[in-house]
Amino acid sequence: MGKLDFLVEEVEALKREGLYTTIRTIGSPQGAWVIVDGKKVLNMCANNYLGFANHPKLKEAAKKAIDEFGVGPAAVRTIAGTMSLHLELEEKLAKFKGAEATISFQSGFNANLATIPAIVGKEDAIFSDELNHASIIDGCRLSRATIIRFAHRDPADLERKLREEGGKYRRKLVITDGVFSMDGDIAPLPEIAEISEKYDALLMVDDAHGEGVLGRGGRGIVDHFGLHGKVHIEVGTLSKAFGVVGGYVAGSKALIEFLKQKARPFLFSSAVTPADVAACIAAVDILTESDELVRKLWDNASYFKKGMVERGFDIGHSETPITPVMLGEAPLAQEFSRRLFEEGIFAQAIGYPTVPRGKARIRVMISATHSREDLDFALDKFEKIGKELGVLRS
Ligand SMILES: *Cc1c(COP(=O)(O)O)cnc(C)c1O
Repeated sequence: MGKLDFLVEEVEALKREGLYTTIRTIGSPQGAWVIVDGKKVLNMCANNYLGFANHPKLKEAAKKAIDEFGVGPAAVRTIAGTMSLHLELEEKLAKFKGAEATISFQSGFNANLATIPAIVGKEDAIFSDELNHASIIDGCRLSRATIIRFAHRDPADLERKLREEGGKYRRKLVITDGVFSMDGDIAPLPEIAEISEKYDALLMVDDAHGEGVLGRGGRGIVDHFGLHGKVHIEVGTLSKAFGVVGGYVAGSKALIEFLKQKARPFLFSSAVTPADVAACIAAVDILTESDELVRKLWDNASYFKKGMVERGFDIGHSETPITPVMLGEAPLAQEFSRRLFEEGIFAQAIGYPTVPRGKARIRVMISATHSREDLDFALDKFEKIGKELGVLRS
């Protein structure tokens, strides 16, 4: 027996349980239709909400940045990696978000790993929604603070825990996803903000799936609820609606100044490339000028969701363009996804551990790039396979 045999055994176990992830290969730009493993299919699983991943203005900005700044920053931000482009992006993002300042990171995942351990430590407690994203969970663990989970979207449970346990710690940090990526539900942020204030806790929201989706012209969840100034730390990603790659934190000048000195991925991992940053700037410019794409996204989402409910699908309780098609057991979800692919639709099955056991689903991601014909095509195929596999409610 080799020392690494356990790796093979664990992967075999995933396959037996229907939890093995088949990684598809994309052979085209992201868009409504993509080439997947050599086949042209309707794309219903990318986070490219607004179509920015292949937007002509973003591509042009990236090419121009390569000519002006080259391809790599060649350093971490604090040594020699901060280019004028990074500062321009951070200023524009702050204006767009209505925040005093922002700091950008290499990814949204990194933004959480960077921020949480910088803000809290061993003497502190984090109050975290039980369904928070993996990057929040990992950031919390890295901080070595005590982690106290509250029930999903349950301000009363949060309040009870802050009241009963909050007194024992130096600082308290409440953290929640803005939009929960697997169900598409939205955190009750006004109530959470009020309770955080009452118990003197800092409040942090990770708005990865709310950026470019919620709020006026896609300004995110804080704007959606009109909570400017009441959320101390707002994390965002540039890799979903913004269509590129990167993450950021928006907040007060003091917070951003502090993170520029203390956030480890900022200090110890190289800056994002000029092309990526320039493309992100172009995305912010487009969103600042017009809400057209955001409106198209929401129109598409309500059209598709209505069609799915009419056809008898259980699509959970999403409040956003994320549309979970609930199927139950992982093997059924995988079979559904496989059949969709045969019929020309790319939509991935999602099972444990990304979602709880028994709650496997196809997660459909609606985009502003979809046309009505695309959505009708998808509805027909979903219905056909739904009937075939006997999952429709009558
Ligand atoms: C996707 C996601 C992230 C990670 O963002 P990346 O920019 O892809 O690293 C972080 N938090 C939440 C809630 C997410 O959905």
